[in-house]
Amino acid sequence: MSAAEKKVLIVGGGLAGLACALRLHETGARPLIFEGSDGVGGRVRTDHLDGFLLDRGFQVFLDAYPEAGELLDKESLDLRAFRPGALMHKTSGMRRVMDVFREPRHLMESALAPVGSFADKLRVARLRWRLTRLTTEEIAGHEDMTTESYLQRAGFSASMIDGFFRSFYGGIFLERELQTSSRMFEFTFKMFSQGSATLPARGMGEIPRQLASRLPPGAIRLGAQVTQIQPGSITLESGEQFHGDAVVVATDATTAAGLVSAGGTVGPVWRSVTCLYFAAARSPLDESIIALNGTGSGLVNNVCVPSDLAPEYAPRGQALVSVSVRGTVDPDDLESRVLAELEAWFGGAVREWRHLRTYRIGRALPRQSPGTGFTGPGFRKEAGVYLCGDHIWSASIEGAIISGLRTADAILKPS
Ligand SMILES: Cc1cc2nc3c(=O)[nH]c(=O)nc-3n(C[C@H](O)[C@H](O)[C@H](O)COP(=O)(O)OP(=O)(O)OC[C@H]3O[C@@H](n4cnc5c(N)ncnc54)[C@H](O)[C@@H]3O)c2cc1C
Repeated sequence: MSAAEKKVLIVGGGLAGLACALRLHETGARPLIFEGSDGVGGRVRTDHLDGFLLDRGFQVFLDAYPEAGELLDKESLDLRAFRPGALMHKTSGMRRVMDVFREPRHLMESALAPVGSFADKLRVARLRWRLTRLTTEEIAGHEDMTTESYLQRAGFSASMIDGFFRSFYGGIFLERELQTSSRMFEFTFKMFSQGSATLPARGMGEIPRQLASRLPPGAIRLGAQVTQIQPGSITLESGEQFHGDAVVVATDATTAAGLVSAGGTVGPVWRSVTCLYFAAARSPLDESIIALNGTGSGLVNNVCVPSDLAPEYAPRGQALVSVSVRGTVDPDDLESRVLAELEAWFGGAVREWRHLRTYRIGRALPRQSPGTGFTGPGFRKEAGVYLCGDHIWSASIEGAIISGLRTADAILKPS
């Protein structure tokens, strides 16, 4: 049997499992995905509620992601871009901080915004210039440290770090302490500088849906919870057993650690987030931009209005407001506390907003400490099975896809 004819059992139909399956299928191998839930996508799914599209947690696809961009048909995802920059809610009002390289007309406004010093803005420009010229491989070879130390070493003032980076990257890393790897910071900074943060017009769930649609019929089994794995076989909760030439565990890290009984994989500490959705009669922003909490206090980290980018996200005549709160804060009155806080941002109209749904996502991102990402072959082999997912390469859509692709390449490589 040639390597390409192998039958490969893949546990998990998130982006890593789907990317792995697709690469295997395109080279003639026979992947079979066992997905425990009722749909593909894992942490990237979209629910439909009363005509609204609710992504399970606010997230964006960076259209400069190199490998995800190559694997996906970006055109048919109909990506809608956020404007490059952000609005910062300060106690003194809303301030605009734009990427002036792409929106030069905001040069003065951004330079004068009370967010960091003028020297900080020059440091941002220098960082941008340097990182856009580096390849991901070069970034992966850099000394790794916490993002906080990196920014301090780069000379940024405390007011820039506290007033901008903690809110902007707090929404990306899901932690304000900026303890995430500086390589991850450099990589995402480069992606933001080279492209746009986007949403597919019909929701983030279109990304896994597109990958799944390119697999042959019968390649994905939904509701198939895997309880045991061995090097050449898996067992489902129902007791059914399947045999193959290779087994890939493409679940999140904590589940993988439980399934790979030989141990070795330690479950990560997770970064969590709570995402609240509200229906509004009109958009509080009225533009495709992310608004950040620049006050340093309060529950809310960031707010955006997906329907400003893509009207498909809300029924005609309504706006969908997405509010992210770091952690899985669980007071019974979370919704009313968030609304009370947002009145200071957007005024009394907030009182008319209708709460749609709240997602509390305990396992959103595996902690990515310095020295943990962007290294090695992009997969691991433990106890005779392959492990892939965002915990191996980088905690992102790109990282999950890269890990899936590398795993498939390793399986296909003639031994
Ligand atoms: C709220 C939030 C915001 C984010 N923001 C961004 C962002 O803006 N940009 C970005 O690039 N990334 C972002 N990410 C990260 C990105 O979504 C993830 O890194 C990526 O989707 C992980 O994919 P994965 O395939 O590795 O894992 P998962 O998506 O976790 O997929 C694992 C799959 O395995 C299945 N599974 C688990 N156990 C079993 C079992 N026993 N049997 C069968 N199936 C099983 C699960 O149901 C799941 O479908 C965000 C994530 C979250 C949650």
